[in-house]
Amino acid sequence: MTSAVKVTGVTHVYVTEERATLAVQDIDFSIGQGEFVSLIGPSGCGKTTLLSMIAGLILPTAGGVEVGGEPVRGPSSKVGYMLQQDYLFPWRTIEANSWFGLEIEGRLTPETKQSTLELLDEMGLLRFKDYYPTQLSGGMRQRVALVRTLATDPELLLLDEPFSALDYQTKLQLEDLVLRTLRAKKKTALLVTHDMSEAIAMSDRILVLDPNPGRLRRVFDVPADIRSASPLLARELPSFHGLFREVWQEFGGESDADR
Ligand code: ADP
Ligand code: MG
Repeated sequence: MTSAVKVTGVTHVYVTEERATLAVQDIDFSIGQGEFVSLIGPSGCGKTTLLSMIAGLILPTAGGVEVGGEPVRGPSSKVGYMLQQDYLFPWRTIEANSWFGLEIEGRLTPETKQSTLELLDEMGLLRFKDYYPTQLSGGMRQRVALVRTLATDPELLLLDEPFSALDYQTKLQLEDLVLRTLRAKKKTALLVTHDMSEAIAMSDRILVLDPNPGRLRRVFDVPADIRSASPLLARELPSFHGLFREVWQEFGGESDADR
């Protein structure tokens, strides 16, 4: 079976007039169809750079990326991207924001509009469809961003810290909603987070990156009992705490304040 994502020997150097920054070096991993994988590591270790290469927004300096068995040469509708900030347009209603991706891909039809309304309904947002983004809470806005991302029906979702600006309770609710939705729709996902609990509670596998330059340090398989529990209940399992300690040690307990 072809991998959903295949990253082979990927290195990226940012070149500006002042300097060259080796952001990530010689990274290899693949993600299976329908798998949920998290990428964790301290800030500046190259997580966003890796996601941008998988999304085709920047090209690797060396190595290659494949999505769905095809080399990535630029942005594609096979990949959906969700960020920490929702980037909803304030002058568009929730419904019109949800269509945005379909509109720029020239795929807005009565049928795709209808399936977008169904997604809004699944996210509990249908009755807010005529509202504007400023009238919604942060968690609701991220749900709209998820609808907009799913509306174009991508095979792969790239999630770059989508929960990190939310309060703890909203974050737990959204983790649960996102995981249930992506599993039900059999989507493949790669989540970037600096929250180890979130990575353990949501993922099938966790990739830990080393900083300066970003290299793949270790891969953890998440045990079945955690994977089959909801992100909220997973946090109460004994195996969760065991894995948390292991992942923490891999980080060396390092915090931003030490660097
Ligand atoms: P993370 O998402 O893990 O915080 P990034 O991928 O954003 O890390 O950054 C990795 C490294 O590349 C950092 O040293 C950062 O300063 C550098 N970097 C990121 N984007 C750019 C850019 N556009 N130009 C130059 N350097 C960059
Ligand atoms: Mg980042």
